[in-house]
Amino acid sequence: MSILVFGSLNMDLVTRTHRLPQAGETIAGYSFETLPGGKGANQAVAVARLGVPVQMRGRVGGDEFGKMLIESLQLAGVNCEGIAIDQTTSSGVAAIAIDDLGENHIIIVAGANGKVDLSDVDRLPLQANKVLLLQLEIPMAIVLAAAQAAQQAGTIVILDPAPAPTQLPAELYAAVDILTPNQVEAEQLTGIAVPDQASAIQAARQLRQRGIGTVVIKMGAQGALCATAAEEFWVSPFAVRAIDTVAAGDAFNGGLAAALAEGRSLSEACRWAAAAGALATTVKGAQSAMPTRAELIRLIS
Ligand code: ADP
Repeated sequence: MSILVFGSLNMDLVTRTHRLPQAGETIAGYSFETLPGGKGANQAVAVARLGVPVQMRGRVGGDEFGKMLIESLQLAGVNCEGIAIDQTTSSGVAAIAIDDLGENHIIIVAGANGKVDLSDVDRLPLQANKVLLLQLEIPMAIVLAAAQAAQQAGTIVILDPAPAPTQLPAELYAAVDILTPNQVEAEQLTGIAVPDQASAIQAARQLRQRGIGTVVIKMGAQGALCATAAEEFWVSPFAVRAIDTVAAGDAFNGGLAAALAEGRSLSEACRWAAAAGALATTVKGAQSAMPTRAELIRLIS
């Protein structure tokens, strides 16, 4: 069964400089790259690499970046037929400057991602998909409407509450099946800092009390915590040589969704997720770092 991703597509414009400029200052950088990203698109690529059919919905602008974003998804095997091209605006971009110490300045312009509206929700092929993957780089009201429509249709809704929101609307908790915050997002939502297992359990319980069936807290190199009504279990991390943790969370969500779409149990799906997240840290980049099915199977067996 297939997976639907409804969310953002962004072009990351990455400049590297020895130091970051002061206000009003012009300095020379030494490299520039355009890298396709956006949490929605990254999660779609993560699923496609694992060999599970996946369709992306969202909007790009009527510019060159829009074409490039769609092309890179198609190359990864993502069905892009339903992605809308919004001629009234630019594609979503993240202008990123990184210095020699790894410090960065990032300016995100939502562009077409911010124009996603209820008409896009109405066109979602919910019946045809077993799992819907959502994140928070499109308007919150639209995320809520999509989650509620998917719930009506009996589709499993997985929400990655990223980038970290200050709060989620109360109705959203009731419409989501699985919430997957990382440590920062879990703290933002609950006020509980989650450096370790005990605090993660506390935060997960608090989130579950708001109406979510399953909470999976992504704990970086410590693995993850999964909490449901029936059980709370720790998902052990896979031992890897991590060199770049960018998009590990997106790989994790892709792995979780892929396994659930194939009918695997929640505990097995969490292992797939942890393996996908771990493998993504061993390669630089976002979409380029998503593991293949063969790589994932090799790690978990
Ligand atoms: P995010 O990218 O959203 O901040 P995390 O950093 O928690 O999310 O990473 C997501 C998941 O990827 C983790 O829950 C874990 O399973 C896996 N992971 C991340 N970093 C490592 C690591 N250094 N070693 C092993 N697994 C990792």
